Amino acid sequence: MYDVVVVGGGPSGATAAEDLARSGVSVALLDRAGRIKPCGGAIPPRLIADFDIPDDQIVARITTARMISPTGRKVDIPIENGFVGMVDREGFDEFLRVRAVRAGAVRATGSYLRIERDAGGTHVVYRDKASGNERRLTCKLVIGADGARSNVARAEVPGGDRIPYVIAYHEIIEAPGKVGGYDPARCDVVYDGRISPDFYGWVFPHGRSASVGMGSMLREVDLKQATADLRAASGLADCPTLRKEGAPIPLKPLDRWDNGRDVVLAGDAAGVVAPSSGEGIYYAMVGGRVAATAAAACLASGRVRDLRLARKLFMSEHKTVFRVLASMQNAYYKSDERRERFVSLCHDIDVQRLTFEAYMNKKLVRARPLAHLKIGLKNLAHLTRLVPAAYT
Ligand SMILES: Cc1cc2nc3c(=O)[nH]c(=O)nc-3n(C[C@H](O)[C@H](O)[C@H](O)COP(=O)(O)OP(=O)(O)OC[C@H]3O[C@@H](n4cnc5c(N)ncnc54)[C@H](O)[C@@H]3O)c2cc1C
Repeated sequence: MYDVVVVGGGPSGATAAEDLARSGVSVALLDRAGRIKPCGGAIPPRLIADFDIPDDQIVARITTARMISPTGRKVDIPIENGFVGMVDREGFDEFLRVRAVRAGAVRATGSYLRIERDAGGTHVVYRDKASGNERRLTCKLVIGADGARSNVARAEVPGGDRIPYVIAYHEIIEAPGKVGGYDPARCDVVYDGRISPDFYGWVFPHGRSASVGMGSMLREVDLKQATADLRAASGLADCPTLRKEGAPIPLKPLDRWDNGRDVVLAGDAAGVVAPSSGEGIYYAMVGGRVAATAAAACLASGRVRDLRLARKLFMSEHKTVFRVLASMQNAYYKSDERRERFVSLCHDIDVQRLTFEAYMNKKLVRARPLAHLKIGLKNLAHLTRLVPAAYT
């Protein structure tokens, strides 16, 4: 009998298992293993600091972000006082799982099948990878951290089967070194309807490799062709391709993360990815942490309503940023004209400082009062078309 079984050993599940083990709770971590999570791998300094990520996990340090508009205008944003880190998910996720085991979590490898309940407790039933047999992990509580399109969420939590998604696709290529337009210390973010009519494309350097990809909610978009076009436009068409892969990115946090009984969700399973950027690793790890806090509180008090703490703690910290990013996506990802205007806004040094501070340190900072006013007016001028699209 475990206190908690965590289903899924990605950033959210591994963090939840590690936190619980460190606080003396008996915990098992179930992951199916054998698949590298498709991911651009960009993480902010706040994550590196809060979750003690060692230097050897950071395969590239990004010091410039380049925004590219539909007409090909480029705005380079220097990343002041730090860098955006790049991780390879193959090594990063395993590092987090091993760290959870070192803290005391028991690891199980296999595919989650279902939850059964009887007088003996809650049983997580899974197919053991080594033997192929069905096995059970008996527990008091389950943390569902099995990613986007979570089976745990679908079966256990109201609304868990109806989270909207962007489908993201990328190709991992051999990086060309610093040649042509490619810079191993620069991330390119491409706002162009020909690459993605409702999200964006990216080129993220990872040291010896790079992730080139895009996302869209629209089923009619040919993701592979769009990525081929992006590679051609970025001068990366001839680089050898190492992997091709895609996966959903959830677009909206669920209204409930627990089932009012014995299950609480974390990370992509709860729909928690930042709108407009698709950033999910940091929020998954925070999600794992708050799910662990909620589970520990519930175990200590015996009150199932304490499971609600997970969503409450998360939202009290991040609701405003999610709201701002969602309105930005709604306003600016609609058409090439709007995307052109968005890149124009990125010219503004105060916009750059505020957005990067929010990304890097997860804080909405107060700038000079006049800067806020100026940004607000520029925003209004662009959205009401008072100024031309290329107005900076
Ligand atoms: C193409 C792409 C690019 C992205 N780029 C970025 C980026 O640059 N930066 C960023 O911050 N975010 C990015 N994201 C989002 C980010 O990858 C996710 O938000 C993050 O991985 C969520 O972590 P998680 O632990 O909740 O879920 P996951 O990372 O999906 O982990 C889920 C875990 O559950 C396990 N699992 C699933 N089903 C079962 C089962 N039935 N039985 C047992 N185990 C199971 C899986 O093996 C996996 O280990 C990107 C996403 C995509 C698709």
